Parts: sequence; structure tokens; C-alpha cells
Amino acid sequence: MKEKNIEKTKAVLKIQSEIRRILGEELRKRRFIEISPVILSPITDPLNHPTTPAHINCYGKNYNVTQSMIFHKQLALRTLEKIFVFSPNVRIEPLDKKDTGRHLFEFTQLDLEVKDVKREDVMRLCEELLIATITSIKRGCKQELKMLGRGLIVPKNPFKQIRHVDAYKQYGEDFESVISKTYNEPVWIIDIPLTSREFYDKENLEKPGFLRDMDLIYPEGYGEALSGGEREYEYERIKERILKKGQNLSQFKEYLELAEKGLPSSAGFGIGIERLTRFICGLKRIEESSLFPKIPGKACI
Ligand code: AMP
Ligand code: MG
Repeated sequence: MKEKNIEKTKAVLKIQSEIRRILGEELRKRRFIEISPVILSPITDPLNHPTTPAHINCYGKNYNVTQSMIFHKQLALRTLEKIFVFSPNVRIEPLDKKDTGRHLFEFTQLDLEVKDVKREDVMRLCEELLIATITSIKRGCKQELKMLGRGLIVPKNPFKQIRHVDAYKQYGEDFESVISKTYNEPVWIIDIPLTSREFYDKENLEKPGFLRDMDLIYPEGYGEALSGGEREYEYERIKERILKKGQNLSQFKEYLELAEKGLPSSAGFGIGIERLTRFICGLKRIEESSLFPKIPGKACI
């Protein structure tokens, strides 16, 4: 690697390390408990887009490699009230994602979940976390930001909110990308239609067909930052939603057995650390945010 590239990578990695530290500290201040990531499990996030399943056989039983810890977050709340985890996810994305500059097939989410709160509570929390992170990076990583040529603006809360139907109407099918390029502060997309999401996001029973969930879109064209929402937690509702999605209950057997005994209501989100690093550092492509990036379709170390 050329000297200049090494210096640039060093600056990015220092900032990423700070991002993780600040987020962890901010969450601990708010009495969140960090739990360990789960890498292998018979249950994982089915996702709403096709990925090639990754699984391995352990002692004659099939284990999935974690695509997200959504179910374990809900289960963890039977013991704890507020949790977070830096969760490695493996998602063997379709090959057409290889040039987006936003997709890796192994990445890390800061995944968090809170018992008995609403979507709006975790949206407010997310705004506070992003503001604290950007403020602190601007203060503590001046040299690194200068080296990267990155001028960062601290966003103001509350962030703008647009309902999914309105975003679609106003900006068309590609609204995420248009909104990301149009605004210079992060924007929430809320009330996503049921058919566009996984079964575990809670349906708004006052507005059937729409969910109590949200995405956050970064400004400056960096695209989606996170997804989250309130969760379905009642056994019968969960089963209904799985079947409505055309999925088999047997695929989620271990989760359903525990859900039948009772899950708390909750809300949470997962924010991709590499995408957050890309945004804060102003990087062209997500792979610049990692020492060992896993780029779809490429042989990687
Ligand atoms: P999801 O729940 O699928 O929206 O994933 C949560 C967050 O993880 C996203 O909003 C992104 O920040 C991040 N993420 C999802 N898929 C990828 C990927 N293939 N590469 C990098 N980050 C990702
Ligand atoms: Mg998403």
C-alpha cells in the first residue's frame, strides 16, 4: 500500500474505533447492557431480500450463520431491559449488490433493543447517539478528518420524518436515493408497508397494512443508515405474520417455542458500523471502512 493510502486507512480506523467507543459509552450512560454476539443459531433473520443462506453442521444439527440478531434481541429482553451488541452479520448478498459501495457480505451492526418502549423512543435515542458521535468525532479526531478532507455537520434533532407512502409519491420508486441526495441532514422514513418488511416488525393495528417501524437515511447520497421499529411479540400475532409472509412455522421452531412462553413488547434498531464509518469519514465506498472487507463476488481474506 502507498504511504498516503496507509495514512488514510489509519485515520479511518482510528475514527471507527472512536465511533464504537462513543456509542458504547453513550449507551452505558443510559444503563444499556452490552451482550455478546451470537454467530451460530438454528434461527436467524429471514430478511426481506434474497441472500444465499450460510449454514454449518455442528454435531449433526444445522446452524445458520447470523444474518441479524433480531430474535436473540427479543429473547434477551426476557432477562434484561435495555441491551446492545456489536453483532457480526454474514449476508451473502446477490451479486448485483457488488458495485453499490454500500454492501459487504460480512459486516457489523450495532444492534439494540429496549423493553416496553415505542418506536418514537428509539428514534429519539438514535438521534442523540448520532449527534453525540459526530460532535465527539469532530472534537477528538480533527487531524484525521482533515487528512480525509471531511467537513462534518452536526445534525439537529428532531430529524425530519417522511411517511413511506409520501416519500414514494413525492420522489418515486427510488425515493431512498433521491432523499439521500436531496437533504443535508438525516431523514426518517416511517410507516413502511407490511409487504416491504420482515414479519417481526409490528403492524399498526390502527392503520392495517402499515408497520410501526422506520429507516434512517443519511444525507449526501450515503443511503440507508439503519432499520428498526416496534416488534410483534404476541405468539398468535407472530405466527399469523409468518404465515402471511408465506414462510413456514417450522423454520422458526426454536423461536416460536420460546415466544409461546411470552416475549416482552419492545422496539429497537440496527445500525451498520461500516456504513456509519463511511458516512462520518466521507468515503467513496464501504470497503474503505474495513481492513478486511468482504466484497460481494470478490475473493477476500
Ligand atoms: P437491515 O435490518 O437489513 O436494514 O440491516 C440493518 C443495517 O445493517 C442496515 O441499515 C445497514 O446499516 C447495515 N447493513 C445491512 N446490510 C448490509 C450489508 N450487506 N453491508 C453493510 N451493511 C449492511
Ligand atoms: Mg434496512
